[in-house]
Amino acid sequence: MSLEALGWTPQFAAAFEALNDSGLVPARVVREDRGRYRVLNGAGERAAELAGRLRHEARTRLDYPAVGDWVAVRDGGGGSEVIAHLLPRATAFVRKVAGETTEEQIVAANVDTVFVVMGLDDNYNVRRVERYLTAAWESGATPVVVLNKSDLAEDPDASLAEVESVAAGASVVAVSALGPETLAALERWLAPGRTVALLGSSGVGKSTLVNALLGAERLATGAVREADSRGRHTTTHRELVPLPGGALLIDTPGMRELQLWGDESSASAAFPEILELEAGCRFGDCRHDSEPGCAVRAALRAGTLDESRFESWKKLQRELRFLETKTDARARAEETAKWKAIHKSMKHHPKAKRWR
Ligand code: GDP
Ligand code: ZN
Repeated sequence: MSLEALGWTPQFAAAFEALNDSGLVPARVVREDRGRYRVLNGAGERAAELAGRLRHEARTRLDYPAVGDWVAVRDGGGGSEVIAHLLPRATAFVRKVAGETTEEQIVAANVDTVFVVMGLDDNYNVRRVERYLTAAWESGATPVVVLNKSDLAEDPDASLAEVESVAAGASVVAVSALGPETLAALERWLAPGRTVALLGSSGVGKSTLVNALLGAERLATGAVREADSRGRHTTTHRELVPLPGGALLIDTPGMRELQLWGDESSASAAFPEILELEAGCRFGDCRHDSEPGCAVRAALRAGTLDESRFESWKKLQRELRFLETKTDARARAEETAKWKAIHKSMKHHPKAKRWR
């Protein structure tokens, strides 16, 4: 497989050239599991681990390579590679780490197109599409809304039109994962070397779609045999899989349970018409409650802005604001801890005594 077939672009090439180290070769991360990596390039797929320097210099989890990342590796001997550098990401899906903390983690890097999947059955919910589109725009990847289970829809065209009206410029297509001929509608985004990922709630048909896209190769692709610490061979799964047509599919557990992440303004990307309306409010900090001269309220009264869409936008903003507050609190706590540590080490440092 050539690097281009794996998604290599001039941007990555430039970043790699700048490292100016003939001992390094580029490779793409196809799997990560608790610090153990699998990387793929023209020479094939190999195990890899992080160079100690990379681990020491990492300030947050965002500095660690993730599935989809391009890295520069050197031969570590014994058939494994050492990841010496992480190349800058073109796009990134970030999520907060599960639990009470709000630390960020990369769930997929360098995704070109994200299929936001929704079922045209009882899962159908326009408000949910808006949430997923927000996450998609935030990542930098181009979202495409995929309305699946068109075979179950009474009037797929009406749903298509409704979703198009909230999709803020994203393409919307209807398919049936059970009818492979309908998947031709996705081909535009499945060109060789292009990276795609799927987003959507459970039950919408993501696995069925993935299997349909993989087609006959579904059993052969993705599985790698790997020796575990006891030398047994276990079968694991690649999380970045080449599709028969040449595109690359990223399917990580993290993508499957993605939560919203971003600052308050990122909600606006999925609601451009509200952003536009806001500009017309008399007060710059208008909350669109009962302020005089509120253009958003006026649009609601006139019926040119849908009440449920406005509510959906407000709800997203509240969630994002809450996350932001939590992140700020964490950043302050970290800063305090850092200074405490510095003061402590100064006190215990023999040289520091001279100053007292
Ligand atoms: P996931 O949780 O998003 O991965 O969803 P699955 O792929 O597991 O699909 C959930 C259920 O929907 C399964 O029973 C599938 O057979 C069914 N399903 C998926 N795609 C379609 C479709 O296009 N039409 C119909 N009728 N059922 C589908
Ligand atoms: Zn207003």
